[in-house]
Order: sequence, then structure tokens, then C-alpha cells
Amino acid sequence: NKVTEFVAPYGTLPHVPDDVTLPQFILDSWHPTRPVNKNANPVLIEDSTGRGVHFSEIRARTFGLANEMKARWNIGEDQVVCIFSPNHVDYAAALWAVHRLGGIVTTANPNYTADELLYQLQLTNARAILTHSGSISVAEEACRQAGIPSDRIVVLDSPTGYSGPYCTLEGIIQVGLSKHPQYIERRLGPGEGKTKIALLSFSSGTTGRPKAVAVPHYAVLANVIQMAYYGQANEIYGSATRYRPGQVVLAVLPFYHIYGLVVVMHFYIFVGFSLVVMPRFTLEDMLKDIQQYHINHLLIVPPMVVLLAKSPIVKNYDLTSVTFCMSGAAPLSAELTRQYCERLPNSAIGQGYGMTETATAITFPQIDMHVATLGSGGQLLQGNTCRVLKSDGTYATYNEPGELFIKGPTLALCYFNNEEATKETFLYFDGKPDRWVRTGDEVMFNEKAEIFVLDRLKEIMKVRGFQVAPAELEGHLLHHPDVGDACVVGVPDEYSGEVPLAFIVPSHDAQERMKKDAAEEGRIKLALMKHVADHKVHYKKLAGGVYFVESIPKNPSGKLLRRFLRDKARELKVQA
Ligand code: AMP
Repeated sequence: NKVTEFVAPYGTLPHVPDDVTLPQFILDSWHPTRPVNKNANPVLIEDSTGRGVHFSEIRARTFGLANEMKARWNIGEDQVVCIFSPNHVDYAAALWAVHRLGGIVTTANPNYTADELLYQLQLTNARAILTHSGSISVAEEACRQAGIPSDRIVVLDSPTGYSGPYCTLEGIIQVGLSKHPQYIERRLGPGEGKTKIALLSFSSGTTGRPKAVAVPHYAVLANVIQMAYYGQANEIYGSATRYRPGQVVLAVLPFYHIYGLVVVMHFYIFVGFSLVVMPRFTLEDMLKDIQQYHINHLLIVPPMVVLLAKSPIVKNYDLTSVTFCMSGAAPLSAELTRQYCERLPNSAIGQGYGMTETATAITFPQIDMHVATLGSGGQLLQGNTCRVLKSDGTYATYNEPGELFIKGPTLALCYFNNEEATKETFLYFDGKPDRWVRTGDEVMFNEKAEIFVLDRLKEIMKVRGFQVAPAELEGHLLHHPDVGDACVVGVPDEYSGEVPLAFIVPSHDAQERMKKDAAEEGRIKLALMKHVADHKVHYKKLAGGVYFVESIPKNPSGKLLRRFLRDKARELKVQA
């Protein structure tokens, strides 16, 4: 069986240091792909107040925090700290302080319910939590159940006048800054960056419930260098200079997700941009920020492109400063791309493709839209090698569809404490020592190494770019007394990309009640939707509806026939 391997068609990836941590790389060191930042622009800007935080201040705040986290809680080697907060100008310092001590950060969605947060705290064995004034009650409840003492709950945004029982990040930083160093910075030996875990980011992978993806320091900085090098190489190949230090990028994507954390935070700080930090997305706030801060680069997800392309309020704002837009995390149609270009004619737009397990971007959009193919998911970054396995077990060549497997410097190490899931996703071919990630995505490549994402073969749904694991919702639904069996699938939705729909086999008791009272069916369906809405973050709700069926089709070994039900769900939606 002949193997076609797809690689980037330009240059050679510069050296990726394997003996530095993320803060050492971003805050303390130089690299040939790093533009020289001559002007003293703020690195992070708080959008609501315009407060700018400069490099020296981030470095100092990182030190103060690390110093006091060591003194107070003895945070050290491989201990996990959770950041449970919307985007904030202190997010980077919080993350890097833990790394200076040799610890690991797990970032959680600030909209999680206490159940969801507890799952993450327990799976990662987190020792402390840095949260936000708006999320304290959830953090409190989850920490109580996880056994995290209340003096290890810190309010990250330290609002003025805060007088609650918890310490604030600002308070800790100030105490830390007032003391002599209490810790010795964690340094890495040669090659150690490849195994030293920096992040535990959550993803379901190809199957099952969310898992903690162990991302080493090296993977993140390799991705930063790949993207920076891509900018340089594009210039060599005739495009405009992509990264001019002093330009401004909108940090609207959440930092708790790997796309916001690696591509927006680490990469854009590295190339010398100022990041305007938005704690949460609304279209109006985004438009205001673009106009007020003269945003040049926009990194967003398809539902935001939908709003930019279609909402009537967009034309009330001056968006001419935007020159580049990258959409990722879910597919963006060629038609939407075209509509965006009509609205923002000064801006190039393209897609990046990646996943948490490949921390992060595997492809990147070409800045020159005359060179890029419309509808492509971006061009391969240097250093990645891809294979596409067809359904007949042979390898695809150019323009042939199949399942994508990726090898490269940015791969995560494993699913933390989950050997079985690790073996299913991180693979070796033909007894060779190279590690590959199985993506669960159906794709094809053209001769320019542009990817086309055709379908998702794995079970996860992507709702507004967020992962939703059917197994998690099914497990939750099965706890309800009216549910005998359940299968959750995604149905297409113009704004969200897809939304969850549940097929339910009612329990015996529920069936008896429905026989006696025709109105009972509607009541049960509403109760099941509420059961999900009450316990899960908003985008997991059953917006596609609840449908009763007699049985859930399974193969002889008891595995759900998800694809069959997914097609059936689509038919139902078309009929409706
Ligand atoms: P996550 O780990 O949350 O980033 O999810 C990764 C998954 O998102 C991938 O395996 C794809 O299914 C999907 N995805 C990411 N980028 C794209 C894209 N540009 N087009 C289509 N799907 C994408």
C-alpha cells in the first residue's frame, strides 16, 4: 500500500527549543522567528477601561504571584492549579506563575456548572483555583466537593470594593512582590520540554467523555514558532508582511480553550501585537472594540463570521482597520467567506484547522487570498506530516477523502491518567517509533497542502466551536427516571453549526404514564430538556429537541449506531 504523506510546500522549520518553559520562552527569550518589538506598546489591554499592561508589568506580576503561591500553598512540581475565569489581562501572569514553579495549569470554561467544574477538578487533582467574581458561587460549590480549602480560592479579577471572604489575585501579587524570592525558578534540562506538562486542556477526542489532554511546554512553543515562521515564509513567497509589532489583535476567543490560549495569547504576544482582551463575546462589544482600538487581526469562530456577514448593525461601525481574519474550531463555508469579504473588503479571511490533541493549529490561512483556495481549511504548517486513510484501508493521495492522521512537533503527550483512551488516539504505524494523532475528521488535501475538512467521523459535536460530547449528555440523561435509553447526535444549525438532539427510549414507567395521558409526552420532553439545561453549560442544551423512539439501534457488540441516528435526525429536521 503506497503512502502519500502531505507536508508544507515551503522552507524548513527553525529550531524549536526543548529546554525552556512557556514563560521563559515568551517573557525572557529571543528567537529568529520573533519580530523585534521596538515600540513600547502594551501587551494586553483591558477593553472596558483601556488599561494597558506592558511586558515588564506582566513579568513582575508573574513573579509576585509565583512567589506568594509558593509561600502560601507550596505550589510546586506538577501540582495543578485551575483557572476558572473569562478572559482577563492577568490570565497570562496567572498561567505563567504556575509554570515558573514547575506546576501545571488546567483552564476551565467560566460558564460551567458546579458539576462540570467538579469533574475537571477531580480528574486533574487541582490544588487551587483562580476564579472570577462572577463565578465564585460555582467555584465554591465545586471546591467544597473536591476538598479544595477555601483559602485556595482566589478572585482573579479583584473588582474594586470587593469585600468577600476570598483573597484577590491583586492582594496575593502585592504580598508576593513585597517579599524576597521564595522559590527557585523551574528550569528544564535538554529535551525535557517535550515531556514536561504545561497544560491539561479538556477534549473528548474521538469518543467518550471529556478527558484532560496533557500538553507539554515544547508543543505550545513549537506551534508558536510554526505560525511565526509561516508568516515569514509567506512573506518570502510574495505576500505582505503579516506580523507587524505594534498592531492590534482582538482576544475575544476564550483563553480556556486551546485556540484562544495558544494561537491568540501565546502566538500574538510572541509576535509583538497588543491584545485587546474581551471577557465575553457579544456582537456589539466586538464591533465597538474593533472600532475603538483599531483592531487589525481578528481570530474568531464561524458563528461570529455569520454575525459579521449578516447582522444589520455591522454597518454602523468602522471596521476598515481589520486586515486579516482567521476562523477556526469548526467549518466555515465558502459562501460565508464570500459574504464576509463583501462586508469587510479590506480584510483577508481564511481558516485554520487544529485540535486540542495537536496543540493547536495544524494549518493556517494564507494571507494572500488570491493564492488560497476558497473553502479550504488552511495550508499545512511547516513540520507537520499528514496521512489520510481511506475507508478501504489504503492511503489517499491528493484530492481523495479519508480520515486524517497527524505527526508533528505539537502533539500532546497523552490523555492524563487514561491509558486506554491514549492508545486509541495516539498511535504508532507499522511498528515505527513516530507518534501520530488520529483526528476522527474526514479530510482531503490538494497539491498546495491545503486541507478540506469534509465531515466529522468521530462522535463529538461542535456547537458554536465548543465541543459537546454525546457520551456526557447520554450519561446525564440516563440518570433521569423517565429515560430507559438515550442517544445524542448533532443536527445542523445555521448559527451554531450544529446543536444537540436527543433520541430517547422512555422508561417503562414513563410509557405507562403516556398511555394514560396524552399530554404527558410533552411534559416529559420539556422535563428532559430542563434536566440538561439545569446541570450543563448553556451550549450543551438540547436545542435540537427530544424525540421518542422504541429502541436505540446498536451493533451486535452493543455500540450505538450513531451515524444512522445522525442521518435520521437530519431527516427529521428537514421534515419539520
Ligand atoms: P477542539 O479540540 O475543541 O479544538 O476540536 C477539534 C475539532 O474541531 C477538530 O477535530 C475538527 O473536528 C474541528 N475543527 C477544527 N477546526 C476546523 C475547521 N477549520 N474546519 C472544520 N472543523 C474544524
